[in-house]
Amino acid sequence: MSQVRTRIAPSPTGYLHLGTARTALYSWAYARHHGGSFVLRIEDTDVARSTQEAVEQILDAMAWLGLDFDEGPFFQMQRLARYHEVVEQMIAAGTAYRCWCTPEELDAMREAQRARGEKTRYDGRWRPASGKRLPPVPAGVQPVVRFANPPHGLVSWDDLVKGPISISNEEIDDLIILRPAPAGAGDEAAALGVPTYNFAVVVDDWDMGISHVFRGDEHINNTPWQINIFRALGAPLPRFGHCPIILGDDGQKLSKRRGAVSVTSYRDAGYLPEAMLNYLARLGWSHGDEELFTLQQMVQWFDGSHLAKSPAQWDPAKLAWVNAHYVKLADDARLAGLVQQQLSGRNVDVADLELLARASALFKDRCSTVAELADWVEMIFVPVAPSETDLAAHVTGGVRPALRSLRDRLATIDWDKPTIAAALKETLAAHQLKMPQLAPALRVLVCGRAQTPSIDAVLALFPRATVLARLQHL
Ligand code: GLU
Repeated sequence: MSQVRTRIAPSPTGYLHLGTARTALYSWAYARHHGGSFVLRIEDTDVARSTQEAVEQILDAMAWLGLDFDEGPFFQMQRLARYHEVVEQMIAAGTAYRCWCTPEELDAMREAQRARGEKTRYDGRWRPASGKRLPPVPAGVQPVVRFANPPHGLVSWDDLVKGPISISNEEIDDLIILRPAPAGAGDEAAALGVPTYNFAVVVDDWDMGISHVFRGDEHINNTPWQINIFRALGAPLPRFGHCPIILGDDGQKLSKRRGAVSVTSYRDAGYLPEAMLNYLARLGWSHGDEELFTLQQMVQWFDGSHLAKSPAQWDPAKLAWVNAHYVKLADDARLAGLVQQQLSGRNVDVADLELLARASALFKDRCSTVAELADWVEMIFVPVAPSETDLAAHVTGGVRPALRSLRDRLATIDWDKPTIAAALKETLAAHQLKMPQLAPALRVLVCGRAQTPSIDAVLALFPRATVLARLQHL
């Protein structure tokens, strides 16, 4: 196979959403599998809706996921001269033409077609043909440029995901490929016009030598036009793979309204990038029964086969399970930094990373996310509020004397886990109690909850003064 080159081409009209992150992962993994290149292109021709903030969020999300690109980011609005050049060549070659229809005229055209019960489409009135007289050029109208789509025949491709697809050219009309610039798009755009998605994407995929295009299947209807434009340009066709949409847990398309769909919102909620990648990989692709695998394994396995044809359903519980796996595996020093960020987002600033690492080591097995881990760690720094029920159930008259004598012991001993454990043992012996009687009371008072990991290990995380203060009123 010649050089594999893939790309992801998000539009900066919003954050990088999960569907795009998944196709970015597939494109990246495919390039890495074949030792090829992965390109990032920002499709910013929707001038009114594109923002610099969205560009930054996309770059941020890609960096967080670790999907490194070999080339780019390229920006389409910096390539206007190239689109203009290709358009001029196409007009000269007769594969594109100017059209002076006004919006009112196009509305009237569609209205008449609807009235006749026909499918609405551009009727080709400005398309040159031998012996055809074109309408007189109206004054004061800026033309668009349309692609002269082949009128007959089939457009066919063997989709990497969906298999063979054929569309009749009679189904598709002469698409606009270049428009006059909207107000505010800048002088260059005003002079050269702005390309439409289906045209710019072809010029770019051609110029950037893209060999394989993975994208969402909402673009399947665009592909016949793109293939026809590739052919009109004499450009080599990439292979296309259209991945089915991701469904929300209600069976509807995953969307903003149906819960978070930006990649970075998962980072902020305490998910790890390796968990997101593992989960996204499986959402539309499989390698046998493997559910948990490293990125290196994915690169080794991802050869473009075993991509799912039917939509996958977003499953928050499974994502949490995958994330819990990676939280357990994560290095404690790394978790400490992440917990520190989570806490600082709650206005709890903690400088002691060594303490956060020890706390992470102790609690991480119980957590699905770093946010949950921070929920545990927070009790060390923020006053706890035990519930009345827990207090009544565990801090009983029978254990109060023992709690008081433990408090006195804790006031003077060396503050480390073995010495705390020894103090606990002595207290139990002196009061003839068992650990299951004393430990829950201590947990409720110090931690605000009746269940924690081993109480001596937990107490050792706290500053002595905090423990004594929480055992003050007995
Ligand atoms: N800008 C398009 C999008 O964000 C890219 C589609 C493609 O990959 O061709 O949907």
